[in-house]
Amino acid sequence: MSCRPLVVVFALVAAVCPRAYGQEGDAVAPLLARIEQVTKSGDATAYLALLTAGANRERAIEFCSSELLPGATRTVLKERDREPLRGTLAGNGYRLMVDVLTEFGPRARAATWRLDVKRVGERGSAQEWAIDDEERLSAVENLYRLALNPTKVFAARDLRVAAEDLDLTLTEGSVYVADIDQGATAAVLVGRGMMSFHPTPDTERGQVKIFAGSETLETRFDVAFIRLNPYDFESALAATQLKPKLADPKEFRRAEEVFREDSQKSFLIDLGDLSRDPWSLLPGSGDFLAEVHTRRFDTLTYAKSASEAEDITVFDRKRHHNISIYPSQRKIANRGRFYNEDELVDYDVLDYDIDVAITPDRQWLDGRVRLRLKVRALALGSITMRLAESLVVQSIVSYEHGRLFGVRVKNQNTIVVNLPTTLQRDAEVTLTITYAGRLEPQTADRETLALTQGRVQEDMPTIAAEPSFLYSNRSYWYPQAPVSDYATAIIRISVPTTLDCVASGELEPGFPTIVANTARGAPRIESAPAATNRKLYVFRASQPLRYLAFVVSRFARAETATVAFPPRQNGDSASVPFVGPSYSSLNLSVEANPRQVQRGRELGDRAADIALFYHSVIGDVPYSAFTIALVESDLPGGHSPGYFAALNQPLPSSPLVWRNDPAAFSSFPDFFLAHELAHQWWGQAIGWRNYHEQWLSEGFAQYFAALYAQKQKGDDVFASVLRQLRKWGMDNSDQGPVYLGYRLGHVRDQSRIFRALVYNKGAAVLHMLRRLVGDEPFFRGLRHFYSASRFHKAGTAELRAAMEAETGMSLERFFERWIYGSTLPKLKVGYRTEGNEVILQVEQIGEIFDVPLTIELQYADRKPVEVLMAVTDRTVEKRVPLGGVLRGIDVSKDDGTMAEIVKN
Ligand SMILES: [Zn+2]
Repeated sequence: MSCRPLVVVFALVAAVCPRAYGQEGDAVAPLLARIEQVTKSGDATAYLALLTAGANRERAIEFCSSELLPGATRTVLKERDREPLRGTLAGNGYRLMVDVLTEFGPRARAATWRLDVKRVGERGSAQEWAIDDEERLSAVENLYRLALNPTKVFAARDLRVAAEDLDLTLTEGSVYVADIDQGATAAVLVGRGMMSFHPTPDTERGQVKIFAGSETLETRFDVAFIRLNPYDFESALAATQLKPKLADPKEFRRAEEVFREDSQKSFLIDLGDLSRDPWSLLPGSGDFLAEVHTRRFDTLTYAKSASEAEDITVFDRKRHHNISIYPSQRKIANRGRFYNEDELVDYDVLDYDIDVAITPDRQWLDGRVRLRLKVRALALGSITMRLAESLVVQSIVSYEHGRLFGVRVKNQNTIVVNLPTTLQRDAEVTLTITYAGRLEPQTADRETLALTQGRVQEDMPTIAAEPSFLYSNRSYWYPQAPVSDYATAIIRISVPTTLDCVASGELEPGFPTIVANTARGAPRIESAPAATNRKLYVFRASQPLRYLAFVVSRFARAETATVAFPPRQNGDSASVPFVGPSYSSLNLSVEANPRQVQRGRELGDRAADIALFYHSVIGDVPYSAFTIALVESDLPGGHSPGYFAALNQPLPSSPLVWRNDPAAFSSFPDFFLAHELAHQWWGQAIGWRNYHEQWLSEGFAQYFAALYAQKQKGDDVFASVLRQLRKWGMDNSDQGPVYLGYRLGHVRDQSRIFRALVYNKGAAVLHMLRRLVGDEPFFRGLRHFYSASRFHKAGTAELRAAMEAETGMSLERFFERWIYGSTLPKLKVGYRTEGNEVILQVEQIGEIFDVPLTIELQYADRKPVEVLMAVTDRTVEKRVPLGGVLRGIDVSKDDGTMAEIVKN
């Protein structure tokens, strides 16, 4: 998850791979030129004169009524595809796909037509070809070429432009507008202005404070660009306050300059070879966009966009940071406080069949992907998919609909595939997409540690790390749904014979094997000589994965083992059964860079032990195989898709220092491995339903690694891990709630804050929950949550429901404070003795939390005794029999409890 691009660039026509049809000498070209002319003239009679004798005239008349409109000033028609007509007309004509742009002065429409054309006359005769049938496949209406109107200039004094939580006040200045037939849709404000952004949600005010130093972002601006629907113009701009005036040429030039730059950033459609002009779509009613050129923060973009789940955003353009993202009041009223990104998806990918050939030294990838998808929207006219922009799509073929056309959406790693018919909910489609291009491997993500400083240890000889190439969820190396989406897969991947590969799925028996580049059925590299040999791998993922990944490097097999799990005993499983197979063993292997084989063997043994332990806690292993790809790197850390983990092994000569990081546990070096392996359950088998819920992956992986540390190294190491979780969590809690996900630390580029809260506070919250509800109900609740959400995206609400079902307790306030809130409890702790008893008292100052507290009774004549108190009210008391001469009490810091303690 990274910044959401606010540049909304649509492209609905213009093919991904324009072909050179309609060139000179082509017999059909004169007919197409004639159709282009007729479209410009809007003359239906002239169109009907182009029909064959057998054509359906009524259909043609209806076609003309929507496609041939009066008043056209320019028409461009481009042929995109041609195939011979089939059936009775075979050999006598073509089925053409054409894109048509028709301009009406500053307005335009773009359409894609199917035209069946037939030879009717002598070769070279005046009317050699005629139209036998036609159909409009898709159209985009109401495109506008916008420009500032030099005759509509207004003087403004204390002009207020308002959107939800935003006020722009132009104290003194001018307003320039761009208007269309329906009214003004853009304005440029020039002069002395003040921007005030004051988000309603507390959390967002907190982020604004981190960004701007105060909960309301107030800053001067000298120019602002605004886009909105013409119907909203008068209400948003208080147009009555505008007094017409004459344009000052110098000021107008400045306004035009800003207009040219800012109007390109949003609502623009890319028409490819149909027109090079910037054609703009209209914002929907209620949508609003402002590019505010401030002195202090450079350009800040405020956008309200009803189609987004969180429809209000404020974006720092220069630094590419989301400052605010949240739902408007109206959105909350309609759908409630929480959302699942899956509710917005158009379709669900069921299965992938992937052939790729990767050549790392050229960073080149050839791919052919067949994917089966099921429609989830009520009606679907186009399929939007993610695929890295640098990969060029060569063809898109549907089993059901034949050859399809896609268009690229600029700067968004997106293709839009137009469908010939509207598909209804539950329809299934199979697409095969062929593509190739240069693609860089992905860089370390925030799972990896951050450096304290780049201190070079001069005395160490430097050894270069073995190169490795990871392609995963941030690479968009295969066509995929816009949000992560569980699907099964088979991946055939070929690499140069000197390299090796680990990918999502279980390696099929008999692979890898050496094949010729031309081998049938193997992914091949179009540009490589046929004689080149390749090493072919086949990986099968029978269980659904959120995303697919592979890593290529020089690997040697360090270990392979089958981890057999003890049979489950009656009564130790969760009350909720899960769907799908459960495995009784795990095929574990380690592929290591050649220098790391010995380390790989150690990790293999350790991984087997960890897998056994996790299985004993959760009662399941979600995937049948797990491979550790041990790669050399400057930093520890890793990346864990389903079926494997790429684990970084820092070289002894690494010049970098990383120990001061929330995710570095010096007391337990296997922490990283335990964390990455836990992601097979938490993060992969259990996904997160939007960026807010990432703690269900990272906090759980961190907590499971801590549990393994306890099992392996004992209570002291566990306590030291808990101390570290607690300290990082407490020190950073004021940066925002765990629920903010990747946005924690984002405004200031401090990924440590993200790890401190999403990883460490998340894990500490789980431990506090366990201490409050008791071990047995806690682990039953975890298994319940796991079983109910296996191979789904879950949210905090599902965790809470599972825990409440197994404990019978209300946990509403617990999660409200610890996950959705960012404060910490303030506890006043005291005691008094009465006879043979000590009465422990805890008072909550401020907000009431549910928090477990471990109090140590310090005796003069014996070892301290720990007493657990469940602090779930304003004041709580507990009577404990005295066991000796009480010297005083202490509050433990070894139990993960995050609270500020005020002593009586
Ligand atoms: Zn992780």
